[in-house]
Order: sequence, then structure tokens, then C-alpha cells
Amino acid sequence: MKQMFLVELSVMTVLILLCIFRTKRSRKKIAHSVVVVLLAIVIPLLGNIVIASSDDPVICNAGYQLFLIGTNLVIFTLIDFTLQYCAYPPLKRISRVIFTAVLIGDSISVFLNNIFMHCYLLEEQTLETGEIYYVLDSKPGHLIHLAISAVLLVFIASLYLWKIFKSPRLYLERYLVIFLCIVFVALCEYYNVLMDRTIDHSMVGLAIGGILVYFFAIEYRQLFLKMALHDLLVTNMSDAVIFFDKDGRAIYANKAAGSMFGIFRENLDQSAQLLGEDITGRTFLEDGMQVRSDFRIQSEVGAGNDKRFYDVTCQRMEDRRGNYVGALFGIKDYTEVEQGRRERLFRQTHDQLTGMVNKEMFIDLVSQALNQEPDEDYVMILSDIADFKIINDIYGRETGDCILLGIAGSIRALANERTIYCRWGGDQFAAFARKTDITPRMLEMKIREGMRSGANKSFKYPVVVHAGYYEVSEKMIPVSVMVDRCIMAIAMVHDDYQRIVSVYDEELRQKRLWEQRINAELDDALRERQIFPYLQPQYSGENELTGAEVLVRWQHPSEGFLAPYRFIPILEKNGMIVKVDEHIWEEACRILSSWKGTQKEMLHLSVNISPKDFYFIDIYETFTKLVEKYGLNPGRLHLEITETVVMNDASENIRTINRLREYGFIVEMDDFGSGYSSLNLLRDMPVDVLKIDMAFLGKTTHPKKAETILNNIIELAHQLNMISIAEGIELKNQLDMLKQMGCNVFQGYYFAKPMPLQDFEKLAA
Ligand code: C2E
Ligand code: CA
Ligand code: CA
Repeated sequence: MKQMFLVELSVMTVLILLCIFRTKRSRKKIAHSVVVVLLAIVIPLLGNIVIASSDDPVICNAGYQLFLIGTNLVIFTLIDFTLQYCAYPPLKRISRVIFTAVLIGDSISVFLNNIFMHCYLLEEQTLETGEIYYVLDSKPGHLIHLAISAVLLVFIASLYLWKIFKSPRLYLERYLVIFLCIVFVALCEYYNVLMDRTIDHSMVGLAIGGILVYFFAIEYRQLFLKMALHDLLVTNMSDAVIFFDKDGRAIYANKAAGSMFGIFRENLDQSAQLLGEDITGRTFLEDGMQVRSDFRIQSEVGAGNDKRFYDVTCQRMEDRRGNYVGALFGIKDYTEVEQGRRERLFRQTHDQLTGMVNKEMFIDLVSQALNQEPDEDYVMILSDIADFKIINDIYGRETGDCILLGIAGSIRALANERTIYCRWGGDQFAAFARKTDITPRMLEMKIREGMRSGANKSFKYPVVVHAGYYEVSEKMIPVSVMVDRCIMAIAMVHDDYQRIVSVYDEELRQKRLWEQRINAELDDALRERQIFPYLQPQYSGENELTGAEVLVRWQHPSEGFLAPYRFIPILEKNGMIVKVDEHIWEEACRILSSWKGTQKEMLHLSVNISPKDFYFIDIYETFTKLVEKYGLNPGRLHLEITETVVMNDASENIRTINRLREYGFIVEMDDFGSGYSSLNLLRDMPVDVLKIDMAFLGKTTHPKKAETILNNIIELAHQLNMISIAEGIELKNQLDMLKQMGCNVFQGYYFAKPMPLQDFEKLAA
């Protein structure tokens, strides 16, 4: 029997030593405390081994001493372990001192038993097997020892109990098992004592307790806790999680699956239908049961404002042997994020007012279209509202916006699915279409229709829309250049409220470019004297040189010799002609001044005055200042004006002309007969000379009638005390005829072409 007990104890000791060995290798913080508890347990175990293996009372006594003091040590270390295991703060100093004092006191008391015999006496008993076994005959000291142990064990057990009541259910097992273990060990111990059993098996219980401590503190992975936590996590996840088993039946769905797809415990078996094919993916449904491979898809479900965006991940689950066990679906609803992203993108790429794409997006879309179908014939169209700024100013921005929305609506109605259009900016809209989809005529018709219907609405101001139409002949040029060409086309009809659509052509472009160049280069040209006068001689009826007409020429550094028609009309458009004229007038005065005191002193020079000069400068002041500056006789300077000067704003200009005449200038009416000249006008015209252009005769189909008119004009001029000059004379018979009619002065290629000053001066010498 003792043998059996010895075996039991040895096995326990070996097990405890194994536990110590394993615990030493653990990196857990609690490992140290566990080792200490286990080492403490070894001591009473050894004590019992000594007791069981010897028949000598002295050795057995030593064994009991080891056993009793050892249990104190176990209790002491167990307190430390428990505090750490249950995450209590360390004991206060005072309690620690008390516990230590009590246990040391008890241990000393046990030790002093060797002298005072107040704890126990060894009592020899013969077991059933005939073996001798020494048991304790308890004295009061031993009872005190047992009481102390009991109190401390109750204290330790209550530490666990407290945790058991205070912690969430999830953590129950962690404390409960050790608590029950302590209760078990205590019961073993006291049962033994109370029942007065010979061999004290409670030591085995203590060892088992030690092993449990080791197991729970070091090895146990808290499986329940982990599972419960996983469950909690998955249940409350914001993504929907649904698990389909190997037969394609849903067996789990979390809360989010309920709120997102209406999948609850009751209708779990309908999960696949509730999710829909877009989410479960075709593989899943086609196969019926199995998901063949993992997949991740972004799925859009629903339409319009109810559209939802899901990020679906499906994981195929297999067991260790590779058998399919089911599929786990994780579905994230990222609708808010996606909507935000789309809204931002929309704002970046669209015009706020009209909702049309903006310029940048338009350029992208057009470039794409050109890349995708480069062989198609395309047109670029740009619309522009005439005087939109004025409309905005007078009627307010709201009205302006209203008009823009109206136009945007018309463009949408007009466009087909292939048309790309945008609000180009401000009051301009651009459209890029196939040439076959819209011709300039169609466009013109539609715009007029729109303008008419717009006028019918509450807004009464006539809104005029112009459109530039560019047939995209060069597909490689940037989109913005295509639009520029439309703008260029519009510029040609800008002030014209009759013409709506202006088609861009290359000639037009060259013309515009030339215009821009002329305007840009004029100042330098004047400064560098690239612009200078030519003189065309004028003769009397007696073939005597009377003077010359001053005609401007531009010796352009790269374009060569420019005749006036190349640049005068351009400069007249924006009034820059004034700069040229002032320059030429000054040159003329300089020439006249250089002739003073020579035989050329009697010659006059005729200068041309553009109608725009009257508009932009004070002609009277300019000319009077000039003759004063150069000390000239104003009668030597003839001023050539045109009919338009006296037709437009007549009274003011007529007054200027009269003042100039009073000052002594000779004023000539240029190109008489080529415009609207009426005889009435002739009556009021304050001029000294009528200058008749022979071109007026040359082009007519009724030369005889023209001759009669010419004859009468010359006659009339005489009667009105005017001198008549004929210009453009190229032929001898023209000259003869004019002489016969009584014309006074003659000019034309027949005599000489316009020439440089030096040549003229040679001629006059
Ligand atoms: P314009 O004032 O009627 O000038 C006469 C034009 O007729 C000149 O052309 C002259 O060269 C041309 N001409 C003279 N004789 C004949 C002829 O026998 N046959 C033909 N076919 N043509 C002849 P040009 O020099 O080319 O000047 C053209 C126009 O440019 C001028 O017409 C005038 O309106 C304008 N212009 C010329 N110089 C100036 C200037 O300094 N200032 C302004 N404002 N206009 C100018
Ligand atoms: Ca002239
Ligand atoms: Ca003329």
C-alpha cells in the first residue's frame, strides 16, 4: 500500500517537474509565478515521499516537517500567483507583512514541535498490508496550522469568486476552473483530516491542483473566449458576413447582413436569392453549390438614386485535406464613399449651372472620340451670345442664367448620343459632332428657331446667338485650337445680327492671322520707317505737273512691298489708320517744306483722310498745327475726303471741313461717283475739288450713258465753282475725252504710277 502511494507521489512529482520544465520555456509574464507555485508544491510532495518510503520515525518526522512547512509555502506562493492571474494590484505592504508573519510563525511553530510536541506526535500504525506507517496525532498547534491554511485558502478562493462575479461571462471559465480546483484540494485535505485516514492522499489533489494551475496559466488558450470574441466581432461587424455550407445553404449571417440585405435567421435559406447574382457571382449560382475559386468583385446594385455599391469578397473554405467545406462572403457597402467620389468627380468635370461637362472634360472626350474613330468626318461648333455682358448688366445675372439654361436645353435637344457638348465657359457652348449629323444650314435653322421661341417667353430682349462652325480638317491639332477656329469664324459675323452661323475656312484664318500681324507690327513699322509715302503726279490740261497725290506704302521686312489694300482696310477697322495717316501727313508736310524756295514750291500735295480720322482725332487741330510747324501755305496741302465723311454725322464733319477751308486748305471729294453720290449731296458738299475715278466708267455696260453722266458732272462742278480732277486715266482717248469735257486736272498710269519721292523730284526738276 505504501508502495502504491509512493508510485502515486512519484508520478505526481515527475508531472510537476515536467510542468516546471514547460513553464520555464514559456514567455508569459505569469510563468515565473507558476514556477514558484510548482516548486513550492514539490516540497510537500517530497515530504510525503519521505514519509511513505521510511519506517524510521525520525525520518518520517522530517518528512512531516517538510510537508507542513511546504504547504505553507504553497499557500504563500499561491497568493502571489492568484493576484497576478486575476490581475489584482499587488498586496499592500502591511497585508504582505501579516501574511508572511503568520506563515513564518506557523512554520516556526511546526519546526518547534521537535522540542515542544505541541503540534503533533507521530503515531505508529500498522497498515492492512502489515507495513508500518507513521501518522499524525494532532495537537492544538496542528489545528492552528490547519485553521491558518483554511483561512488563507478561503481568502484565495474569494479572490477567484470575486472575479467570477465581476467579470463578463466570457471570462468565467478562466477563474472558475482554478476556483473549483482550490475547493477540491481543500476538501481533500480536510476530508482526510476529519476522516482520520491513515494515508493522506490530499497531496495528490494538491499536485493535480498544481498541474491545473500550470495548464490554465500557461497552456490553455481560452478557446471559448476566443470563439466568443470572434462571434462578437463578426456579429457586430459593419460588413455583411454570410457563410454558405458545402451544399450552398447559408448557415450563418451576421447583423449587417440583416440590415443590408434583409437576411435574418428565419430566412437564412433564401440568402443566395436575397443577395442576388450581382453579389454572389456567377460561379456560385451556376455551379449550384460550390464556389470554384476565391473572388472579389465590385458590384453595383439597383439604379438611379437607390443604386448601392458593394465590395464583395468570397473565400472558398477547405479543410486540412482540401475538401470544400463552404464559402464565406464578406460584403462591404461603400455606397457613401462612392457617391462622394462621384459627386466630387462630377463637380470637377461639370459646369454647375447647366450640369454639362466642362471645358477640360470636353477636351478629354473629344480627344477620345478622335482616337477611337479617326476616319470619321467631324465638325466643331461654338455658340456665343451677342452682348451677353450687357444682358447680364441690364437684366441681372438671374436672367443671364435663364438664357444660358435655355441654350443648354436646346443643345441637349439637338444633340444625339454621339454628340459631345459642353459649356465652354461664360456664354459659350461647344459641340463636337459628326459632319453628317449637322450642317451649317441645319444649325442656322435650329438657332433661329431657338431665338424665336426664346423671345416668346417672358424675356423680351432679343437674344442673338452666333455660332462658329469648323469642319475638322486637321485632326491632329489640339481641341482648343479647333474651338479657337470657331471663335475666329464668329468674330467675322460678330456685329452682324443677320448672319448667325459663320463657317470657318482656311482663308478666313489666314486673313485673321494677317490682321493680327498688321496690328501687332504697325508701331515698329512706323518707328523703323518701313511705312513711307509714294507720290503720283497730277497734270493740268496743258500737261504741266501741278502736284501729286500722296499714297502710303509699306516696305515689310519679310512680306516685301505692301500696297495699301493689304493693310489700310484692316487698320481702318480698329482706327489704327490714324497713326498711319498722321505719319503720312507729316511726311507730306516735310516734303512741301523741303520744296520751299525751289521751283517745286508751286506744286501741291494731296493727302488722303480716312473717315475714321474724323472720329478719332481733331482733324482741324492736327492740320493747322502741321502747317504751322512746317511754315507752309495751307493751300499747297490738298485734303482728300470721301463721301462717307459728309454722310455720317454730317453737320459736325461739315463744320470741320468748312473751318479747314476757311483756314486755306483745299478740300477734295475723292472717288466721286463711285459710291452713293447724289446730286443733292453735291449741293451741300463743302469741297473745292471733285475727284472722279475712271474706274467708275470702265466697269459700266453702258459706256455712252456713263460718258453723258461724266460730262454732266464735270459741267455741274464748273457751275458750282468746283475744280474737277480725273484719276485712273490709263489711255490717251480717256484723257482726250476728259479734256474735251472740260476736266481740269489729270492723274493716272497714263502719266505715271505712284513713285518714290526721289523719282518724283527728278520728274519735277
Ligand atoms: P485712292 O485714294 O483712290 O488712290 C488712288 C489709287 O488708284 C491708288 O492706289 C493709285 O495707285 C491707283 N491708281 C492711280 N492711277 C491709276 C490708274 O491709271 N489705273 C489704276 N488701276 N489705278 C490707278 P493705291 O496707292 O493702291 O491706294 C489705294 C487706296 O488706298 C487709295 O485709293 C486710298 O483710298 C487708300 N490710301 C492710300 N494711301 C493712303 C493714305 O495715306 N491714307 C489713307 N487713309 N488711305 C490711303
Ligand atoms: Ca485718294
Ligand atoms: Ca480716289
